[in-house]
Amino acid sequence: MRLGLVHPYWQTGCRHNPCEKDFTMKRSGEPKSEIAQRKKIEERLLKSEVALQNAFDEIKKSEAKLRRVIDTIPTLAWCNLADGPNEFLSRRWHEYTGLSPEESHGWGWQVAFHPDDLPALMKTWQELLVSGEPGEIEARLRRHDGIYRWFLIRVEPFRDDNGKIDRWYGTSTDIEDRKQAEQALQSSQRNLSSIINTMPTFAWSARPDGSADFLNDRWLEYAGLSATQALDWKWLTAIHPDDLNHLTDYWRSIMVTGEPGEIEVRIRRFDGEYRWFLIRANAVRDESGAILKWYGTNTDIDDRKRAEARGEEAYLRLAEAQRLSKTGSFITDLLADNHDWSEEAFRIFEFDPSTKVTVQMIRDIVHPEDLPTFDAVIARGMSGTDVDFVFRIVLPRGVVKHIRGMARVMVQVGGHPLFIGALQDVTESKAAEAALDRARSELSHVARVSTLNTLTASIAHEINQPLSGIITNAGTCLRMLSGDPPNIDGARETARRTLRDGNRASDVISRLRTLYSRKEFTLEPLDLNEAIREVIALSLSDLQRNRVVMRTELAENLPSIIGDRIQLQQVTLNLFRNASEAMIDVEDRPRQLLIRTAREADDRVRLSVQDAGIGVNPEDLGKLFEAFYSTKMGGMGIGLSVCRSIIERHHGRLWAEPNDGPGLTFSFSIPCGLESPSSTMPM
Ligand code: ADP
Repeated sequence: MRLGLVHPYWQTGCRHNPCEKDFTMKRSGEPKSEIAQRKKIEERLLKSEVALQNAFDEIKKSEAKLRRVIDTIPTLAWCNLADGPNEFLSRRWHEYTGLSPEESHGWGWQVAFHPDDLPALMKTWQELLVSGEPGEIEARLRRHDGIYRWFLIRVEPFRDDNGKIDRWYGTSTDIEDRKQAEQALQSSQRNLSSIINTMPTFAWSARPDGSADFLNDRWLEYAGLSATQALDWKWLTAIHPDDLNHLTDYWRSIMVTGEPGEIEVRIRRFDGEYRWFLIRANAVRDESGAILKWYGTNTDIDDRKRAEARGEEAYLRLAEAQRLSKTGSFITDLLADNHDWSEEAFRIFEFDPSTKVTVQMIRDIVHPEDLPTFDAVIARGMSGTDVDFVFRIVLPRGVVKHIRGMARVMVQVGGHPLFIGALQDVTESKAAEAALDRARSELSHVARVSTLNTLTASIAHEINQPLSGIITNAGTCLRMLSGDPPNIDGARETARRTLRDGNRASDVISRLRTLYSRKEFTLEPLDLNEAIREVIALSLSDLQRNRVVMRTELAENLPSIIGDRIQLQQVTLNLFRNASEAMIDVEDRPRQLLIRTAREADDRVRLSVQDAGIGVNPEDLGKLFEAFYSTKMGGMGIGLSVCRSIIERHHGRLWAEPNDGPGLTFSFSIPCGLESPSSTMPM
């Protein structure tokens, strides 16, 4: 093998040294001086030859050294002939590929390259051979164990004095590790870029002055802008005009301080709609602390913003509703004495909203008479039971408030029941209720008294005459009988008159009812259901007091009737009261009262009041409507008879019937179209 790395001059020129032959040619027939001269020259030549030989040896030595160097440097070196085939490959090349010099000589080295890379490699090599330029290419070279590694192949032409390419010198450097690192970097860059562009948020970066140098795909797609339309400062065009000044001021301020920043602004979508975004920015600095870049994200918070707005509005509405209804709400952990009160709760108790409420604070203002109830409620609550409560508080300014409320166990936290509850200031409704109670009892008193007064006056007036007739006639009769002889005819006559007056007195009662019910009607079209609802409202607390459970089945689309509202309401009230009184001693069953209205076939409407009271004996059923029939202590026995006369005035019917179970049902039925009140009453 020729050592191609050493210049050919050194290989060939010194082997055919022409000097030696020339000097030995002129040795015979010369004068002495010439001989001496020539000797000198020969000596000098000999010296030069020795020097040359030494130089040649030196060169050989340095060639061997160079070769050692070439074989030792941690790269593969080689030399190709001017037209391409290989002339020399370094020892490392052979060691790496496992190919012998014979196998790789000429074009044999090609087998060591990856078949996929060889075409490109040969193409480049051909181009370099034509152009004569230095070049480089990357290709995979097979190791002796069959594994391919990437190499960077660099080649330089070596030209002779005429500029003609004499050899190509090259190196092949193992770049596998770098290549792998590059590939890893590329794939992580690809990854990063796909993350940046697909993550559901906008990502961007900006220069130290705040102008954008990158906006991710999502950002651009959302705004419907191209990168050119949005980079630098052009992204500001997508900001809502109302937020622009605020944003730019803020942006500039953090550019100066370099502090991380966040701000909420509206950004225009491609379709023109604005949505709220949270913009966050962070600066990256170099070692000296100077800002290199800003990185940031924009997160869509529009839904959260809207929910917040709705929540705020709902809270305001709730607060307003609480204020209007004087209802406060609370969440309480009684055991820990932790209480979270709404504004209205504070307002009702007139506590300073900044104070921490405690049970003792509340207890301190509870009305002394209600303390036992209050303590019992707290004790029940402490045991984890739902509670309803009613108590009064006495405020420092002397005002008494009635509080009603309830608390329900919402959840157990750390073994403590957590209550949610509501409390209401019912002072006004309590006052109204009391006033209503008073009015009702006054009304019923007045009704009774006026009924009684009217009746008494009528009785006094109407009965006086027949009574005095009876007394006069009885006296006359006695006188006639005690005569001597007794005046039998006269006595008979007076007795007859007494009888007549007695009959007349009995008639008086009947006529009294007629008279009583003959007062003027106030007729008006009315909705019976509505009139009844008013009576129900009026009777409710009475019924509740008597623990009567009322149920209503009021028919829909009941035709309106023409009648006297007050009188019909009086009838209804009377029926309610009787039913409630009939159930007062009932303990073994619910005290149920069922109020029903219905439309009847022949254009009539009916009201039924069904109780679960003591009822009546069947033989007494007919007596209920008789005047002065009463089974109650202090009862007057007028109510039902007056009711019947009122209903009959409406051309209607009032009756009672026993239930299948306990109790009675009283019903009245009246025609819808009443033309004129009846002027007479059947008795
Ligand atoms: P008072 O209620 O003053 O007794 P009423 O004329 O209203 O006068 O009632 C007459 C009587 O009819 C009552 O005393 C009672 O015996 C009986 N009565 C009325 N309603 C009922 C009823 N729902 N259940 C049982 N008995 C009743």
